[in-house]
Amino acid sequence: MTKQFDAIIIGTGQAGPPLARRLAAVGKKVAIVERKLFGGTCVNTGCIPTKTMVASAYAAHMARRAAEFGVAIDGSVNVDMRRVKERKDAISGKSRIGSETSLKHLENCTVFEGHARFESPREVSVGQDRLTADQIFINVGGRAEVPAMPGLDRVDYLTNSSMMGVDFLPRHLIVVGGSYVGLEFGQMFRRFGSQVTIVEMGPRLIQREDEDISAAIQEILKGEDIDVRLNAKCIGFSKRGEEIVAHVDCEPGATEVSGSHLLLAVGRRPNTGDLGLDKAGVAVDERGYIVVDDQLRCNVPGIWALGDCNGKGAFTHTSYNDFEIVAGNLLDNDARRVSDRILAYGLYIDPPLGRAGLTEMEVRKTGRRALIGKRPMTKVGRAVEKGETQGFMKIVVDAETQEILGAAILGTGGDEAIHSILDVMYAKAPYTVIQRAVHIHPTVSELIPTMLGDLQPLVG
Ligand SMILES: Cc1cc2nc3c(=O)[nH]c(=O)nc-3n(C[C@H](O)[C@H](O)[C@H](O)COP(=O)(O)OP(=O)(O)OC[C@H]3O[C@@H](n4cnc5c(N)ncnc54)[C@H](O)[C@@H]3O)c2cc1C
Repeated sequence: MTKQFDAIIIGTGQAGPPLARRLAAVGKKVAIVERKLFGGTCVNTGCIPTKTMVASAYAAHMARRAAEFGVAIDGSVNVDMRRVKERKDAISGKSRIGSETSLKHLENCTVFEGHARFESPREVSVGQDRLTADQIFINVGGRAEVPAMPGLDRVDYLTNSSMMGVDFLPRHLIVVGGSYVGLEFGQMFRRFGSQVTIVEMGPRLIQREDEDISAAIQEILKGEDIDVRLNAKCIGFSKRGEEIVAHVDCEPGATEVSGSHLLLAVGRRPNTGDLGLDKAGVAVDERGYIVVDDQLRCNVPGIWALGDCNGKGAFTHTSYNDFEIVAGNLLDNDARRVSDRILAYGLYIDPPLGRAGLTEMEVRKTGRRALIGKRPMTKVGRAVEKGETQGFMKIVVDAETQEILGAAILGTGGDEAIHSILDVMYAKAPYTVIQRAVHIHPTVSELIPTMLGDLQPLVG
């Protein structure tokens, strides 16, 4: 049976539900479709559960360090993985149920549960239902990439999704992929008590960051006895009894790592292959991301793509901002654009990395005249007081305009402190504004003006 709506939203990630609320509030008849878990990746298998588990891992880590702070813990520090999972499930579940319930109670909105597929540019099928609308919004997100690696079909492996079901301590977790997802899981399971080996194909960890950041992160992980294998060009797998063996080098008979469990964290791919996009004529790029313009419109009029599936961002805040851009243009006469956005994100190892704008490496490539400032966390009072002095902060500024081009804070509170820099970047104000600001003592942020007072030319 065909059901007519003003708008169809496919997926309940970070953009779909707020858009449904805005459209329904102005009286539009909205259909929203979810095939699996309400709230999508962030709520169920991404940010919320992982950061909840990172908090458990931090508690274990600090408990082990307790004596350094003069705190005596009688007996050993043990992690109850069932309790860790229960806590994670409770926090993530509350968010999922909140998302589902609010959509199901939303006036002017009908929720369909099932897999949505385009039948034409204006029609979507969900099971037996056929929905039509003049406006269709795609918010289908992505999933873990599972590349064809030799022997992978002969071993069991985990992804960020199946990791959510782990309520035991893997004896030795092999993590393939030394980027954001792999590093967060790697450090947290080491802190839970697993032996951890991170296998990375490239010459260094998280290669989109500057080399000094990669090196400092590797040092942090090394300090926790996490084994890091770089330059693993020919990764393959085999089974030896109960053990999973990861072959990490190209030379015959060369190095291998054997462990009890394997986590694949080698990237994400968009959920666009099973959406019937060809029937709607929606264009995708060579990696399957939906091609959109600066207002997130697809090549087919009346269809928009928001969130991870458009390849313009890979974060909860970028997906939510996609909602704001679409709502601004359609409902508020506010011509917001993706190109207004400054890249910013966190890496939630401990200590965390907060990043905004360009890396030093990217600034160097532009060839412009720039200034750089850098401060180790050992010189940040707050970090010293907390006993968390690993990492550093750095900032790059345009020498002519005095605008901040990018910054990174790898250190305690770095994910929060970066925002004072990010906001000045959005204001397009000169760095001197923040240099002259009087920040609160003792905080990590108070060293940002100090760092800006000692900028040096970026040479080489
Ligand atoms: C381990 C991990 C940790 C992360 N940590 C962070 C973090 O700390 N901070 C951060 O900003 N980001 C983080 N991310 C990224 C973040 O989770 C995503 O960027 C965010 O969820 C935005 O996703 P989205 O809105 O594009 O869609 P998603 O949240 O992926 O939701 C898409 C929804 O669409 C549904 N769907 C798909 N296809 C169909 C279909 N055909 N029919 C019906 N429904 C469909 C899916 O079931 C899903 O519910 C993390 C990701 C991972 C994997």
